[in-house]
Amino acid sequence: MKTLLAASCLALAVMTAATPADARDVVIHAGRLIDGASATPRTKVSILVHDDRIVRVEDGFVTPPGAEVIDLSAKTVLPGFIDAHDHISMSEDWSTLARFTHTDGDAVLTGVRNARRDIETGFTTVRDVGSGPLEAPALIRGIEAGTIIGPRIWTALEALAPTGGHSDAQNGMRGDISFAQRDAAIIDGADDARYKVREHRRRGAMLIKIMPSGGVASIGDDPNHMTMTDAEMKSAIDTAHALGMKVAAHAHGKQAIDHVIMAGIDSVEHGTYADDESYRLMKEHGTFLVPTLLVADWIYQTAVKTPDRLPPTVAEKAIAVTPTMIGNAGRAYRAGVKIALGTDLTGLSGRNKAEEFALLVRAGLTPIDAIFAGTRNAAELIGAPEDIGSIQAGRFADIVAVSGDPLTDIKLLQKVDFVMKGGEVLKTGGRMVIRD
Ligand SMILES: [Zn+2]
Repeated sequence: MKTLLAASCLALAVMTAATPADARDVVIHAGRLIDGASATPRTKVSILVHDDRIVRVEDGFVTPPGAEVIDLSAKTVLPGFIDAHDHISMSEDWSTLARFTHTDGDAVLTGVRNARRDIETGFTTVRDVGSGPLEAPALIRGIEAGTIIGPRIWTALEALAPTGGHSDAQNGMRGDISFAQRDAAIIDGADDARYKVREHRRRGAMLIKIMPSGGVASIGDDPNHMTMTDAEMKSAIDTAHALGMKVAAHAHGKQAIDHVIMAGIDSVEHGTYADDESYRLMKEHGTFLVPTLLVADWIYQTAVKTPDRLPPTVAEKAIAVTPTMIGNAGRAYRAGVKIALGTDLTGLSGRNKAEEFALLVRAGLTPIDAIFAGTRNAAELIGAPEDIGSIQAGRFADIVAVSGDPLTDIKLLQKVDFVMKGGEVLKTGGRMVIRD
């Protein structure tokens, strides 16, 4: 079967091999290049793109015969940003009423909006660590077909937690109200964990998200509690790894953080109450931390200024938990833990996702390490460093540009002028390209 498949792919490649007449060669003249691989920027560099991939990066402004030139000689050029903690269809309306009125249809529309906003702000890839059953697969198909504009999406489908945990839609509700899709996000017991991971993969999951601690934005559960057993965590993680999927764990409390690292998790999301022992474990196991500072900042501000916009108990939890969450990123960084950038916030909350870079710098990361967090580190965490996260030969031509030097002012990353994804220019001169 494998041979057959390889043979037919080869035939297809021969049939569709670009002839000089229809080959699409583009060369980008980059004034300054931060390539996501080296810590040292280069100046006056040419990036040669053929169709959707980068074929060569060379010094000086060169123009191969027949290539279309994109002049970014006055700009700083970087790899497309990667948000390692996204919820592609999440609305900025976190009210209890929205839970009872919004349908999957609303969520798909929100996802279309979010996907476009990701591109506008320079995020050419997102890791969707929790959405409904329909949204991400439909968005992925729509983006691949060119029907809508959006980033590359790696989706976990529904995040998995036990009864009463962070993903339980019934938390805080009357016992006689039932949520039809609740069960798809619930795991109780190691056998159930194994089944739900397999079932998620069958429905299109590309990674798995588990939630071994309580959370902030849910009613009633406590972020400090370890809500899953070791056996449940291990079963979910081992099953996912056997099926070639990575696993992300939402975890706030130290016990849940330490236990899920020892169970073999690939990334700890939030990681609020991690301590020196947790950081030592992360380094020993090669575990990434995704600190999610933008959501922490946003929910804290909302809890202080307009707490009635949040469901019951959430404002109190936000005020208690999020200041520690923000401090954690700097402590982990100084301890030598691998950091990947994740916002946990839609770009439609009135905030620009690229603010996460500035928040990482404020937490103590150097500007270049903050940029690495949102490019090569996130690509490594996703498991696709050969395709995304850097501007090198062979990678997808996912490329952004800003004015000025973001290494001296990291906030410049919040004003992306130019976005190319897979060789297609989606934004130029600060404006989105209008497609026919
Ligand atoms: Zn999240």
